[in-house]
Amino acid sequence: MGKQDITTLSQPKLLEAVKAMGAPAFRASQIAQWLRRGVSSFEEMTNLPAGMRQALAQQYRIPSVEIERKLVSKLDGTVKYLFRLSDGELIEAVLMQYQHGTSMCISTQAGCKMGCAFCATGMGGYRRNLTAYEMAGQILLAQKDEGRRVSNVVLMGMGEPLDNYDHVLAFLQRVSDPQGLNIGMRHISLSTCGVVDRIYELMAHRFQLTLSVSLHAPNDEIRGKIMPINKKWGIDALLTACRDYAAATKRRISFEYAMISGVNDSDACAKELAGRLRGMLCHVNLIPANDVSGRPFQKSSRERLMRFTEILTKKGIPTTVRRSLGADIEAACGQLRGKHTAVSS
Ligand code: SAH
Ligand code: SF4
Repeated sequence: MGKQDITTLSQPKLLEAVKAMGAPAFRASQIAQWLRRGVSSFEEMTNLPAGMRQALAQQYRIPSVEIERKLVSKLDGTVKYLFRLSDGELIEAVLMQYQHGTSMCISTQAGCKMGCAFCATGMGGYRRNLTAYEMAGQILLAQKDEGRRVSNVVLMGMGEPLDNYDHVLAFLQRVSDPQGLNIGMRHISLSTCGVVDRIYELMAHRFQLTLSVSLHAPNDEIRGKIMPINKKWGIDALLTACRDYAAATKRRISFEYAMISGVNDSDACAKELAGRLRGMLCHVNLIPANDVSGRPFQKSSRERLMRFTEILTKKGIPTTVRRSLGADIEAACGQLRGKHTAVSS
């Protein structure tokens, strides 16, 4: 500790820092270029003079992301990483192979404050925000480790992205940099439990990313029981924000709906949901809820899923059932860290 994180310096500040060391301005661009590639030490910046590398290391630090554990699904090749950050925090990420490319689900926080009743991450509590560099670092490291390019990114790992707004925004602003990750906004999805004021802030940027909203219930009564955020912003406020967002960005909202047996999966729920979403530019993703140990929730039956899909579809709401990948490696986020901590403590 004590040393400043060099990856959080703006370009002008980095330039100032370089000048203060008595080095020429072009060194700042060289450092920035290395950081875009995701280096984890100043030693790796081989085009800088050795003395400068040492001086930098005395004053600054580069937050590292390292592989703590890696699991590969025998069923479908899905890769799950448990990453260790510089301060020992553990986060998760998942790499999924689709026909059109490789998609990666990354974490935005170590833990989460939101406390959703069905979520393993929520159960573990909140530790800290990740920086933009730590978000990009997960992707750069997986690319290096697996030798393939990540074409799509979903901010759907551990944490609530809109509760870490500034760092997530910095990540989004850099992600399409051709000299860095080079991933276009249309290949990014951001998932939120419904932090309404931040949805409006994000909307102002008119990014062409996909906004996923974890809805999981058609009314306040059910949602309030499983998602504490609903007490701050109820369904009406959330869906108004979604309609505004879709209208402003012309992008379809993707609603996530985890089907939990006996909680939110009745015919009446499907009908109510269809009524709420009528006329909105949107799509519903039904997910059979993953079991979380220590929690009473169970996934809905196949029949319930089919019936729910049928009702929504008949009422004109585009609906799909999400294919479950990596079922044998606890690919749902928060599950691996939970297990790892349980084993090691
Ligand atoms: N915090 C953000 C993004 C991370 S959670 C959010 O809540 O949207 C990623 C997704 O996994 C969310 O849609 C979340 O509701 C869902 N999820 C969490 N626990 C789950 C479980 N046990 N079964 C199915 N989906 C779950
Ligand atoms: Fe946090 Fe998302 Fe889990 Fe809710 S579902 S506790 S918002 S990570």
